[in-house]
Amino acid sequence: MPKLTLAEKLEILADGAKYDVSCASSGSSRRNKGGIGNGAQCGICHSWTADGRCVSLLKILLTNACIYDCAYCVNRRSNDTRRVILTPAEVAELTIGFYRRNAIEGLFLSTGVVKDPDHTMELLIEATRILREEHRFNGYIHVKVVPGADLLLVERLGRLADRVSVNMELPSRESLKLLAPDKSREAIVAPMKRVGELIVQTKEERKVSRKIPPFAPAGQSTQLIIGASGESDLQIVSLAAGLYGRLAMKRVYYSAFIPVNIDSRLPSVIGTPPLVREHRLYQADWLMRYYGFAAGELLDEERPNLDLTLDPKAGWALRNLHIFPLEVNRAPLELLLRVPGIGVRSAQRIAGARRGGHLSLDDLARLGVVMKRARYFVTARGRFAADLAPDAAGLRARLTERTTPRPRWNQPSLFDAAAAIDIQSTITGEL
Ligand code: SF4
Repeated sequence: MPKLTLAEKLEILADGAKYDVSCASSGSSRRNKGGIGNGAQCGICHSWTADGRCVSLLKILLTNACIYDCAYCVNRRSNDTRRVILTPAEVAELTIGFYRRNAIEGLFLSTGVVKDPDHTMELLIEATRILREEHRFNGYIHVKVVPGADLLLVERLGRLADRVSVNMELPSRESLKLLAPDKSREAIVAPMKRVGELIVQTKEERKVSRKIPPFAPAGQSTQLIIGASGESDLQIVSLAAGLYGRLAMKRVYYSAFIPVNIDSRLPSVIGTPPLVREHRLYQADWLMRYYGFAAGELLDEERPNLDLTLDPKAGWALRNLHIFPLEVNRAPLELLLRVPGIGVRSAQRIAGARRGGHLSLDDLARLGVVMKRARYFVTARGRFAADLAPDAAGLRARLTERTTPRPRWNQPSLFDAAAAIDIQSTITGEL
């Protein structure tokens, strides 16, 4: 490998890490125990680029060299790119340097696979150990687990990091075989399962004794690439539901396929990547995690893909008009959550406020309800706010209308005031 300065290595390795979106830093409660840094939620500064990707952490690769040859990856073995590797001490030095300059709040460390999965994991563990034990760094650390590594190494890493993640990348065994033939489904799922078990087990043990060291206190996450292979949204959403339900997954991230290689196994993406689809999947994911929706309520075999022109909650409401309008003074919380325009916070506010007396339509806007959408689906004290009785075709037209025309394939942006999807929704998929 060529002799490069640390800054030159950093430039190459940070560039190689930019396609990994699974780096959000929420959920850690690591306390400062006399060292530097603080991984508690208030100590983490989230920052998002205009395309919605997190930039608050030092996000780098240990190395962009890789023995594998995944079709979609910029770092694959067959690409003729400059390869560099950091030593574990260099990773620690860079992290501490950025932290002291107040440029970052934590580290997101991913890697290519050098030599073999176990060797690579040992390097990742050593970098994390140096940060924790030698620099006494208490800030947030998220480290990638290398599929195929020994499960004991996975356990060692989870004792040091706040979050660990194994990237699933491809939603089915078939697409994995086609596009990432060096990796197997088993090699990916085994560490996920072990991490899930250790998270649950450690939480129980720490209820008995706080001396038991935490294991990945910010949980595990994974990433799925959207559009590199032919899976339907139903397959993707069902997979995510299984990961949340069975493997104690904290977050599934969806990453629109960005073509970086010419490869006959990959689809040709004309124009921009499938960013609207990515956003709809985040919305569906949000509905499953916070609104009590099951995957089968959002999609089914007859309708296997999300509607790109309508958010999935509004889509569900239009297919279930028989339950609307709901009287907000009587409807149970779980049904209020299904009303377009009523979010988790506004549903809870309604449930609390109506204990003190019957709510009127005017009260709803004050409680945070987006009446522009909700008025077609609710009554208050028997009054209906819309000029239109619920009718699927008419409602669909109104719910998809935008105040300002936008290009069809525009990525929802934090900085676009005219965007009909609000900022929170842009970042998270929240509805
Ligand atoms: S294993 Fe990871 S780094 Fe290596 S080619 Fe595949 S996706 Fe890229």
